[in-house]
Amino acid sequence: MVNRMRATRSHRNNRRSHHALDAARMSACSKCGAPHQNHHICMTCGSYNGRTVLDLTAKATAKAKKIAAAKKK
Ligand SMILES: [Zn+2]
Repeated sequence: MVNRMRATRSHRNNRRSHHALDAARMSACSKCGAPHQNHHICMTCGSYNGRTVLDLTAKATAKAKKIAAAKKK
């Protein structure tokens, strides 16, 4: 059986020339000025739309505690 509609490598690559991903759009945090992704929480200060949503200090202390416990073993 002959595949009459088979795309050549050139045809396939021409189609895929539009498939490249572009870089994530970043904006500056209104609270600390650090760059963060649009519609995402700022991972530097834990704020979204000007208000604090995530307590990053509590998260950091919990992580330090976990690491210290792992080192003890
Ligand atoms: Zn921030």
